Amino acid sequence: MLRDNHGRVVNYLRLAVTDRCNLRCFYCMPEEGIDWLSRKELMTYEEMLRICSLLVNMGIEKIRITGGEPFVRKGIMPFLSSLSKLSGLKELTITTNGVLTAPLVPELKKLGIRSVNLSLDTLDRDRFFAITRRDEMPAVMQTMEQLLHHGLEVKVNAVVMDGRNTQDIVPLVQLTRDLPVSVRFIEEMPFNGGDMHYTSLKWDHIKILETMREHFPGIQKMQDPAYSTSYNYHIPGHKGSVGIIAAYTRSFCGTCNRIRITPQGMLKTCLYDNGVLNIKDLVRDGMNDEEVGANLLKAIDSRAKDGWQAEKNKIHESMAAIGG
Ligand code: SAM
Ligand code: SF4
Repeated sequence: MLRDNHGRVVNYLRLAVTDRCNLRCFYCMPEEGIDWLSRKELMTYEEMLRICSLLVNMGIEKIRITGGEPFVRKGIMPFLSSLSKLSGLKELTITTNGVLTAPLVPELKKLGIRSVNLSLDTLDRDRFFAITRRDEMPAVMQTMEQLLHHGLEVKVNAVVMDGRNTQDIVPLVQLTRDLPVSVRFIEEMPFNGGDMHYTSLKWDHIKILETMREHFPGIQKMQDPAYSTSYNYHIPGHKGSVGIIAAYTRSFCGTCNRIRITPQGMLKTCLYDNGVLNIKDLVRDGMNDEEVGANLLKAIDSRAKDGWQAEKNKIHESMAAIGG
């Protein structure tokens, strides 16, 4: 079992396979002028597979593929297929915006993928367009339908943004009445690739919960699964559940079990750090698995205690370069 220098189990890798995306969510990236990574800067599938295999041998049990939008990178399905065959890997999951995903759902299921996180911040098509700058809501809804139809677990990720979609909290909770989905409201983080910084957040986890309690007074706290980053709730009579992810408040650091690898191969041992190890360089410098593994272990053994300690500088990064 892999443990960090604070005794926390590390068994979950979030791998961002691209920084590119077919949406332009304003909280994640600017509309124009984005400096995309060149192909050379990106890790190749072979490099990613080698690192994933190494990490699984070291104790990683769950891998989430994210981005950017994972399905805009060519060759993603064969890569997922190779990953799904890694012995020792217990769970392979994906976070997607759902624009290209619907037709791929049967194949994802065949690969043994049981759960998908689908990002959807509103159920209103105009607001969807205003937030993502693209008119793709029907495709996303089709993906949700397909996922449910094929029996995959669906977690809907909704970022709560002051002045943008707080009126969507209630309709999104209502979605859980008839559908067995878990809707998780995420505090907005200042990771939009631009100049947005703030030192306090109006729509924090407390305000989101108050809003839910006001409209659904019967809402009940559920027991959170181990390592959960969300506080989970259930409304009696509803098929699904709701959750709140205090991503800005950072109340989950004490049990954080995850590491991240960015599309250009930087290891992040905290969402809020600037990258602590350039794995791609190690691999391209010709290091063998043992040497790369030793470097990974060293980084995991020097993890920041929490997101506040990790965040030394102002963050200008886009979430698409981190993977969420
Ligand atoms: N493109 C895919 C998607 O949107 O699901 C995967 C990558 S996206 C960066 C992963 C998650 O990060 C999404 O659920 C998205 O809503 C979330 N995210 C992006 N920017 C964020 C921000 N500034 N604050 C909070 N969550 C953010
Ligand atoms: Fe693309 Fe996901 Fe970022 Fe939206 S949140 S711009 S869908 S990477």
